[in-house]
Amino acid sequence: MRDPGTAIRALEEELPGRVATDPGAIAAVAHDASHLSATAAAVCRPADPDELVRTVRWARHYRVPLTARGAGTSLDGESVPAPGGVVVDLAAWSGILELDVVDRLVRVAPGTVNADLQAALRPHGLFFPPNPGSWTTSTVGGNVATNASGPRSFRYGPTRAWVRAAEVVLGTGERLRIGGRAAKRSTGPDLVSLFVGSEGTLGVFTELTLALAPLPARRTGLAVPLPADRPLGPIARALAAASGLGLSAVEYLDRGCADALARVEGARLPSGHPLLLLEVESGDEIEEHRRLEAVGARLAELGIPEAPSVFPEADRLWTLRGHSGPVLDRTLGPRVREDVCVPLSGLDPMLEAIERAGRRAGVPVYLYAHLGQGSLHPNFAIDPSTPGAGRLREEILAEALRLGGTVSGEHGIGRLKRSFLAAEIGDGGVQLLRALKRACDPDGILNPGALLPPTGAP
Ligand SMILES: Cc1cc2nc3c(=O)[nH]c(=O)nc-3n(C[C@H](O)[C@H](O)[C@H](O)COP(=O)(O)OP(=O)(O)OC[C@H]3O[C@@H](n4cnc5c(N)ncnc54)[C@H](O)[C@@H]3O)c2cc1C
Repeated sequence: MRDPGTAIRALEEELPGRVATDPGAIAAVAHDASHLSATAAAVCRPADPDELVRTVRWARHYRVPLTARGAGTSLDGESVPAPGGVVVDLAAWSGILELDVVDRLVRVAPGTVNADLQAALRPHGLFFPPNPGSWTTSTVGGNVATNASGPRSFRYGPTRAWVRAAEVVLGTGERLRIGGRAAKRSTGPDLVSLFVGSEGTLGVFTELTLALAPLPARRTGLAVPLPADRPLGPIARALAAASGLGLSAVEYLDRGCADALARVEGARLPSGHPLLLLEVESGDEIEEHRRLEAVGARLAELGIPEAPSVFPEADRLWTLRGHSGPVLDRTLGPRVREDVCVPLSGLDPMLEAIERAGRRAGVPVYLYAHLGQGSLHPNFAIDPSTPGAGRLREEILAEALRLGGTVSGEHGIGRLKRSFLAAEIGDGGVQLLRALKRACDPDGILNPGALLPPTGAP
């Protein structure tokens, strides 16, 4: 980086009124939702894509790192700035640019909050299926850049499945349109997908075209008390294989998480048990009734006798479920919060490994999970900055890989997990990603420190 003071003054001259360097602005972007933090030199709020292009060209010239930021809810340091770099705050780039109800598409600005998009789509009988726990705050730009998932990904898949096209500014300053409006595309590899999950390291989205699904007429949430110590693998596999029940989400809270959430005002969750949280979709009241009965019968066959609490508005359940992280923040304080995903065949061995790791470290474990997809979030009550936390994390990630799983099911790699990337995708995979990075961002100015391992590593 050239002289930082000169560089920032040049940016202020390039984009008058768009650059903040006051301590309040810098502090507001120093963190994401992980325990990491760093001090940026400035926050830039370009007004439009042309100003973003000028910001990128400026950053290339002065070799200043840029970190795109939506809501800053990442959990592994994805949106923590490079020290001395500039945060490109896109939260104000919000709103629907075009809604096409015939082709079921929406063109949207990247800073649009997921829940605001859902609210705008509802009157048209449509929805954007990915609903991460952070859906009331996180942005679609962040959702796409991390390939976020949510409870409904059990039926509808992750964000990747719903991105048709993007406009992106590369690290070269070039503006690129990738993808299109058509439902099918067989013209070579999928360029859009390369950018999904790239954590702002290849380009900055200025616009996204998202595919939409028809909103089911009825979406019923169920909170089902589970008998203690019941193996979860057979339950997850049976529900994942069940057809005709209309299940669109199969979530799990262990007893510690369920009890902590039950204390949230207005929660109306059963306490004293681990809980299954389900969503049942139906076309009308008659189908709903039939499906709820069928779900009850299937649960009874699985040895789950207790009647569930019913949430006629499933979203209330998912908003409550989204409080799991913040509630544990208050209950446990700083902690290791993991995000592994394993094939359902590996679920029980993974759960045993999680318990074993907690016992070995002598710390309590709280677990919530997107159970139907084998996507697990164990929380270990240990200071995440200690060497013990590092060992624990290594143990869990190694076990997930041994079982054919992934070191990140949905949160991403960020700064916390980049040293584990090669263990999952291999040295060849890392080399390929580096080549892609060089093609899109030859000077390495876009979110350096996230996703790719440090240079010197493969
Ligand atoms: C309480 C809570 C619950 C959560 N639940 C879930 C969950 O269920 N599922 C899940 O997947 N995640 C979950 N998360 C993690 C997080 O909310 C998601 O990763 C979310 O997608 C991040 O969105 P954001 O707007 O906060 O992005 P940010 O944190 O601001 O950014 C995330 C990444 O995207 C990049 N980025 C942001 N905007 C752009 C853009 N326009 N162009 C290019 N890159 C960009 C950033 O540089 C960064 O690398 C949760 C987090 C919290 C705090």
